Amino acid sequence: MDNKFWDSESIRILRTLVETRSYTSEKNELVISKKLFKVLKDIGCEVEVNNIASNRANVIARVKGNGRGGNIVLNTHMDVVPSGNGWGNFDPNKLTIQGNRAYGRGTVDAKGPLTSMIMAIEYIILNNIKLNNDITLIAVADEEGASLGARLLPKIKANFAVVGEATNKTIAVSHRGSLRPIISVKGLAAHSATPSLGVNAIICMSKLIENLDKFNKNVLSVRKHKFSGSPTLIPTIINGGIKESMVPDYCEVVIDRRLIPGEDKDTAVKEINEVINETLPLTDPKCEMSIDRFLETTGDPSEISTKNLVLVPAKKAIEDVYGSVEFSGLDCNCDMSHFMSEGITTFVYGPGNFKMAHQPNEYIELNELINGMNVYKNIILNADRQYINS
Ligand SMILES: [Zn+2]
Repeated sequence: MDNKFWDSESIRILRTLVETRSYTSEKNELVISKKLFKVLKDIGCEVEVNNIASNRANVIARVKGNGRGGNIVLNTHMDVVPSGNGWGNFDPNKLTIQGNRAYGRGTVDAKGPLTSMIMAIEYIILNNIKLNNDITLIAVADEEGASLGARLLPKIKANFAVVGEATNKTIAVSHRGSLRPIISVKGLAAHSATPSLGVNAIICMSKLIENLDKFNKNVLSVRKHKFSGSPTLIPTIINGGIKESMVPDYCEVVIDRRLIPGEDKDTAVKEINEVINETLPLTDPKCEMSIDRFLETTGDPSEISTKNLVLVPAKKAIEDVYGSVEFSGLDCNCDMSHFMSEGITTFVYGPGNFKMAHQPNEYIELNELINGMNVYKNIILNADRQYINS
């Protein structure tokens, strides 16, 4: 197959994926899972669609090896964040090609990486390459939500897994995790004309937010991970008050706390409770303040050492395609932690620039789709020669 074939194949597959709606917020990956099933079936994979919840499904495709190797997992997600505003002349739900760029929601996160993974498998099938290892492509639902897809996978054994998220031509060996507590403040309602008879929950909350911000700047920003930066804590949603002429008796805030590898949820919760306890004496004695509940998140942080042997095939693959190897860490969550918690050593590589993810006018460069295909294909071939069993 010549370059022209792969150029048009990359656009054909990416177009099918981008033009099939799969916003996480709509909780419906059924249509895209059926489309993906057909794409994978047509190129010669064994494919199954696994329903995991109402209207939600994962797609698992396999290429069988000769039984003498193990299994290599390629994983990424089918769902995308909403298109949002600011797309100008581009329609986020259509794939628009302009020069070397393909625009549309999901082109970089993560329908582009998924396209490259599919093409790597197609390359192996078309060229009749006999592998020792099995290859398993796992396209999950809800990665941009609470990682329902990755949490509900069947038990899988693998030598290693590669997660397809844009990594700017590097190998990402770590990513941050997240924790989302909702803190509630209870005050006392009164007529707003006589505020001294009440306890204003919004004023109590403002003191807490100030202290949380200080904690973020003075404590969290000092902690550093080599690849995934510092942890962060910011308020992202606040609600309080029910009537313009009443002293608000209730206020709650959603906190987005990003954890770096090495941090754990229990300690993060303990630290937030310490800030609450330091704040309480600064408010009305009748004010109550506590973590009320938690919103679901994608999960924990995770990392592997850059010296881990499973990286050997990937390092060579990246070097052959891009000329040199660099390591990085993701600021955001990804499904790496879910494979790691199943005992599968995992790293992240995906074509494209991560800065374009979740942005208006999201795009991926067409030659990066081909680079991505070559990296995934080389990882599979290099690992096959090496018989790495972690
Ligand atoms: Zn993603």
